[in-house]
Amino acid sequence: MSDPALFSHADWQARAAALTFRNLCLIDGAFVPAASGKRFASVNPATGQVLTEVAHGGAEDIDRAVRSARNAFDDGRWSRQTPGQRKEVMLRLAALIRANIPELALLDSLDMGKPVKDAATVDAPGSAHFFQWHAEAIDKIYDEIAPTGGRDLAMIRRVPLGVIGAVVPWNFPLDMATWKLAPALAMGNSVVLKPAEQSPLSALRLGELALEAGLPPGVLNVVPGFGEDAGRALGRHPDVDCLVFTGSTAVGKLFQRYAGESNMKQVWLETGGKSPNLIFPDADLDKAADMAAFGIFFNQGEVCSANSRLLVHESIAEEMIDRMATRAAAAQPGDPLDPASRMGSMVDHRHADQVMNFIASGRAQARLVCGGERVTLNGSDAFIQPTIFADTAPDARIVREEIFGPVLSIQTFKDEDQAVTMANDTVYGLAASVWTRDISRALSLADRLNAGTVSVNTVDALSAMTPFGGMKQSGFGRDLSLHSFDKYSALKTVWIKY
Ligand code: NAD
Repeated sequence: MSDPALFSHADWQARAAALTFRNLCLIDGAFVPAASGKRFASVNPATGQVLTEVAHGGAEDIDRAVRSARNAFDDGRWSRQTPGQRKEVMLRLAALIRANIPELALLDSLDMGKPVKDAATVDAPGSAHFFQWHAEAIDKIYDEIAPTGGRDLAMIRRVPLGVIGAVVPWNFPLDMATWKLAPALAMGNSVVLKPAEQSPLSALRLGELALEAGLPPGVLNVVPGFGEDAGRALGRHPDVDCLVFTGSTAVGKLFQRYAGESNMKQVWLETGGKSPNLIFPDADLDKAADMAAFGIFFNQGEVCSANSRLLVHESIAEEMIDRMATRAAAAQPGDPLDPASRMGSMVDHRHADQVMNFIASGRAQARLVCGGERVTLNGSDAFIQPTIFADTAPDARIVREEIFGPVLSIQTFKDEDQAVTMANDTVYGLAASVWTRDISRALSLADRLNAGTVSVNTVDALSAMTPFGGMKQSGFGRDLSLHSFDKYSALKTVWIKY
């Protein structure tokens, strides 16, 4: 049986037992230990077991990786290949990702606790698709000629930036890396990728697959390590042209500071969220409840655009709370290797503790509808029940702060104006959803909601074709779509008199 969507629990367990891990820094086309010789444990949060000891990259390793990326960029081994040649390599990479979906899915699931079936049916195929999409786009983007007239030819050319530093989080390890790498590489840049310390394994394997696909050595370097040393060193490196980051708002602000304190590199941030989901009485309430549950419980709620605030019209409040409680009951966490599990474990115990602290504050400031407990499975207590609060005050911590866990707060509104005011009453602006059959209302709300994406009659709509990113403190710049190339290129004017 070869379709990973059909693998049984036993199939996944057998594959997990047979896995080997890439655990060194990938620099200049070779796997090498950290200069310090130090390593850190990569732990499976769903069992507490150490998977492997990973090279603990630091400033010296980042420097070696940046020098390798710079050499590769300057000698043109990738940057001066034609877009069509780069496309061929990246299409081979997409094919290799597809051929290795079970392995890549397992690496992410074991590293950070998500259900392996989701990783095998959403994350890993998504990574292949995003590489393919950006590869196919790159030889279809034309430069411009300005309408100067006279004996002048003014060309506006799009050129790669040089060395890109990419720092990514642990919630979708393979895909968050892909969202940066695919447009950066397609454009001809070299990259130093620092995966999150909680989830370095798929990025290292991806780097190996890229070499196998024919990406020249040094074009993609992967340095596993911690934020305070490897991440900071990349952010402050004087020879990095652009730093792209996905992660928390607090760390995003640090990267702006690092750039100002070093070489004024460009910084593009995709950061946190506290996304509202507005339900009006004329909506298909069953569908709305199904998708609202998906929007907060998928990936254990560890999703930047998770619909963590459900805003419900007061006339349907009680029936929606009942519907949501039913959906929550069906989304209990389970062994991530069991394809029947709808949620896995939190990324680690520390994060589980933080989510439980939010739940404790919610108990004091709102009515607990369901969940709220930690669950112990396979000797690990990093699992948390799907949790819903109602009667939540607007200033409650669970309404204002990003929890990054399976915790939903439900509030009620009287009319459209109040719904908009409540929805926009946040420092974030990543995503928003609206459920209504009234097209005028949908369009008017799409105008008024401050969010990078407004989904109507669905949640969290995204595709390779459409930009993804935030407003306000959810960041700026956009991943995905043709607009993603803007981050990885500069416009150069070449003016010829004849
Ligand atoms: P995080 O900010 O703690 O870490 C993200 C990355 O930054 C990691 O690689 C980490 O090692 C590094 N880092 C941490 N401290 C650093 C420092 N002092 N200097 C330099 N680098 C540092 O975030 P996380 O906990 O890994 O991920 C969760 C966050 O990511 C949430 O806030 C979530 O909303 C956000 N996120 C946003 C998007 C988006 O597209 N907007 C997507 C996914 C996740």
